[in-house]
Amino acid sequence: TRKLFVGGNFKMNGDLEQLTKLVHQFNEADVDVESAEVVIAPPALYILPLKELARKGISVAAQNAHQLPAGAYTGEISLQQLKDIGLNWVILGHSERRTIFHESDELVAEKTAAALKANIQVIFCIGETLEEREGNKTEEVVTRQTEALAKVIGEDDWKHIVVAYEPVWAIGTGKVATPEVAQDTHKMIRNFLAKRVSQKVANDTRIIYGGSVAGKNAQELCNQPDIDGALVGGASLKPEFVDIIRAAE
Ligand code: 13P
Repeated sequence: TRKLFVGGNFKMNGDLEQLTKLVHQFNEADVDVESAEVVIAPPALYILPLKELARKGISVAAQNAHQLPAGAYTGEISLQQLKDIGLNWVILGHSERRTIFHESDELVAEKTAAALKANIQVIFCIGETLEEREGNKTEEVVTRQTEALAKVIGEDDWKHIVVAYEPVWAIGTGKVATPEVAQDTHKMIRNFLAKRVSQKVANDTRIIYGGSVAGKNAQELCNQPDIDGALVGGASLKPEFVDIIRAAE
């Protein structure tokens, strides 16, 4: 059985005071971190203080990283540096990185392979835009994004990957995918893993849903057989995040 996974992606939001308060609230909440894995991803410069603050059972992730270990890349942070401060998780290929910062399927796959080499686990994000969904291209897009990764990592590496399916049209829009629509796509991704990698990887890999997840819809989403948790944006900046973790449990 796959352990549930709930991620909070703060994106470029919050300040030190607000995020410190928030993590205190998460720390004090009565959630069973044995039944769900909880990871929060603050803006890079708050990673260290929040990592010191977060209680056992709440891990901290970076929202991005560079694929090379060091060098003249002004403004970037390497996976080795993330590992150096004790991080074990990174989000890669978020749709905002892909669309706003033009990260290609190949680059996201390369970063992911580099993360695994640095012993960092990856929340690997995929998902189609509204135009792609309306053009019936969902399967084509998510399999293309996943195929790019399958090409550059081995079967054993998948145990360090959590796939986050985040339809772009559902992100920050309040337009959550219905549990049925999300389940269909998750199942399709799992079938692709079975065909492309192995049945074992398909059975064991967690595929989580992201896009307007809230306290009120988390449980129904997480009850779907192929949805193994959630990647939460806006609602992870509120105490509501605790309700989402409880709903997933
Ligand atoms: P929202 O939950 O704000 O829609 O964001 C989802 C997301 O992009 C998480 O990575």
